[in-house]
Amino acid sequence: MSLPKKRKIESGGGGGGGGGGEGAEQEDGGEREVARPRRAWCRQERDQQYYECYSDISVHEEMLADRIRTEAYRLGIMRNCAALRGKTVLDVGAGTGILSIFCVQAGARRVYAVEASAIWQQAREVVRLNGLEDRVHVLPGQVETVELPEQVDAIVSEWMGYGLLHESMLSSVLHARAKWLKEGGLLLPASAELFLAPVSDPTLEQRLGFWAHVKQLYDVDMSCLEAFATRCLMGPSEIVLQDLCGEDVLARPQRVAHLDLARAGLEQELQAGVAGRFRFSCYGAAAMHGFAFWFQVTFPGGDSGKPLVLSTSPFHPVTHWKQALLYLNEPVQVEQDTDISGEITLLPCRANHRLLRVQLRYKVGDQEEKAKDFAMEDEQWLPSQQLPPEEARLSR
Ligand code: SAH
Repeated sequence: MSLPKKRKIESGGGGGGGGGGEGAEQEDGGEREVARPRRAWCRQERDQQYYECYSDISVHEEMLADRIRTEAYRLGIMRNCAALRGKTVLDVGAGTGILSIFCVQAGARRVYAVEASAIWQQAREVVRLNGLEDRVHVLPGQVETVELPEQVDAIVSEWMGYGLLHESMLSSVLHARAKWLKEGGLLLPASAELFLAPVSDPTLEQRLGFWAHVKQLYDVDMSCLEAFATRCLMGPSEIVLQDLCGEDVLARPQRVAHLDLARAGLEQELQAGVAGRFRFSCYGAAAMHGFAFWFQVTFPGGDSGKPLVLSTSPFHPVTHWKQALLYLNEPVQVEQDTDISGEITLLPCRANHRLLRVQLRYKVGDQEEKAKDFAMEDEQWLPSQQLPPEEARLSR
């Protein structure tokens, strides 16, 4: 087991999950045959498995060590100190309790730190160590079922998964908003935006180019393997996480979705699929490997009037979210002004609502329109003992 990455969820039974385990659509539009010998996990088991991922230290270490993320939350909360002073806050998914404590530092009178995974015990320890037991109440359990003694003035939550919507945690925040937030209450952050751009991936380029290089190394020509490497690396319907830089972006990025967390009907939108059309005009000649998407969230500016943005763009310093890549089946040469258009839809996987699925329709230059269906990369990182016995056996 490699170091657990934040927000990777083992896809488990039901044939679901990464690699387009939905019966992902092929580029030719056909449905791939998917064997479904195992019993599908029910929603509750999926949730249990999901919370297990957060009971370990590593995932919290990765989040706290991500200074860009954690500082953005600290500053975003502090910027709203006037609105928080003497007020009550609900921290949805408190983890180690860091955001709850930031809220107290900003002047909140009481914070309800709700946490569904066993890490709530560590949050309680941290709160005690900081002498804040009277201000931060750590409440174990899911926010959907936990009972608070009162309605709150504000909700804070760090709910964003890879590609923004992996984990489907935003639904829990919306549930909490409807149930516990006072009319017109504060949401931290208040909105999220999704961006898309055609990209070239230098890491992939290097790996594909490696096979032409073998002759120089060992005097054996293996250049014929480049096509096979392309099928292996670009063929799968997985969403790949990669940290790109601005130079890898081949056209001006476009915003494809804007989620205002106070918007009525947002939960229905998430279930139906967050969709956006795009049209790009390429900067210059390059090998296009696919599309990258990323997000930013915005905290209201408070008295400063200047909103605070946490961005995961390739033009900004890297965060643990990196960028989410959607590879075409093979590189496509683009030129200056090559027109790229299409539509992207993000939705939860049918087999596991915690896993992100992406449907992509695209047309590059004069090529015919194509479609590819992706799901979040399936990297097994839960120890197999945590799977039900039948699943554990089959997963080996
Ligand atoms: N707020 C912390 C942790 C963020 S990670 C920080 O910023 O460092 C998200 C956390 O939310 C995880 O610990 C996860 O277990 C918890 N969580 C997710 N959905 C939840 C729900 N419905 N109810 C309670 N906790 C939830």
